[in-house]
Amino acid sequence: MPGRSIRIARIAGIPVGVSPLWLVIVALITWSLGASYFPEEIHGIEPVVAYALGLASAILLFASILAHEFGHALVARRHGIEVEEIDLWLLGGVSRMRNEAHDPADELRYALAGPAVTAVVAGAFAVVALVLPGGTPATIRVLVEYQLLINCLLFAFNLMPAFPLDGGRVLRSLLWRRSHDMASATERAARIGRGFGYVLIAFGGLEFFSGYPEGLWLAVIGFFIVAAAGAQAMGAQINAVFSGVRAAELMSTPVVSVPARATVAQAVSEFFIAHRYTSFPVVDVAGRAVGLISIGQAQSLTAEQRERERVFELAERDPELIVGEDEDVSHLLEQPAFARVGRAVVVDGTGRPVGLLSITDVQRVLRASALADRPSDGGARSGGARGRTAIG
Ligand SMILES: [Zn+2]
Repeated sequence: MPGRSIRIARIAGIPVGVSPLWLVIVALITWSLGASYFPEEIHGIEPVVAYALGLASAILLFASILAHEFGHALVARRHGIEVEEIDLWLLGGVSRMRNEAHDPADELRYALAGPAVTAVVAGAFAVVALVLPGGTPATIRVLVEYQLLINCLLFAFNLMPAFPLDGGRVLRSLLWRRSHDMASATERAARIGRGFGYVLIAFGGLEFFSGYPEGLWLAVIGFFIVAAAGAQAMGAQINAVFSGVRAAELMSTPVVSVPARATVAQAVSEFFIAHRYTSFPVVDVAGRAVGLISIGQAQSLTAEQRERERVFELAERDPELIVGEDEDVSHLLEQPAFARVGRAVVVDGTGRPVGLLSITDVQRVLRASALADRPSDGGARSGGARGRTAIG
């Protein structure tokens, strides 16, 4: 997801964040509604009132999307999927999950929960629009009608079978139920999602160049779907290749460790230069791993700092970067610390380093498995093989 989000609230124990891009979108919505939509709907409206209605509409839309995401998140939590955060960003919301659904029925319930909430919200605005008394000011009536319209659009947009949108998740759960293979279902749903994205880009572009600027929105949404579907397919492939693979199977050995008490200057001369590796596990006096140090970290210091600073102070000491020999590689790949540092120390039962596992090791296997896996008959691969043949 683009950019870092700013945490704004915690609702039902789930943190809610807003991407800085969302603030740009709120401004854009306020501007476009205030400059054209409300003045067209309400004749003689004061510009300041039109912009105020634009801002109110953007904030109500924000609340509608938040309700939609909570629909997903609360159902997910009831089915044992941990929700890390809800992010509002460019085109709506995203519930960030720590893990995936365990079976297709859970996925289906999770996918439908958001649109169900949106349907209820749209229904509520429809009822309000119907029961408004005759003398209601036009501003209120138009505001309510706009929310009804935008929630109907939100409902329809999310149910497009374009993975990873909700409709695409519904599609994936149905494919998954039929094939009992989540990876291949994800792959197929992502392919269909990407196709949808390209159609939207083409359609939006055509509209835009025919003199309808709204077409640009469709094209942007199309780009988003193509990119997101690609990322999901990649994630599914990585999961399929690495789940059930132990860290010890992929790590590089033998391993040379740097004592935590050494100065950085000693580490450079006695380890980086002498052994020519780009990173080393860092160990305490008992020989147990406490972190790792890379040549880039040493290079970031001046010669004087290297003489003074200890390896322990400079080392990456995130506990996520120290893993047992039996650690599942697909699990390690989900750790933010591993994504950031690109390396982890593999230790034995006593905590002593037995190898280093780097992102390069992972990429090597991924490339080999892509070659080995390419189906010549266009058929689905079996879920049981999981691409593991490439590793042994
Ligand atoms: Zn949704």
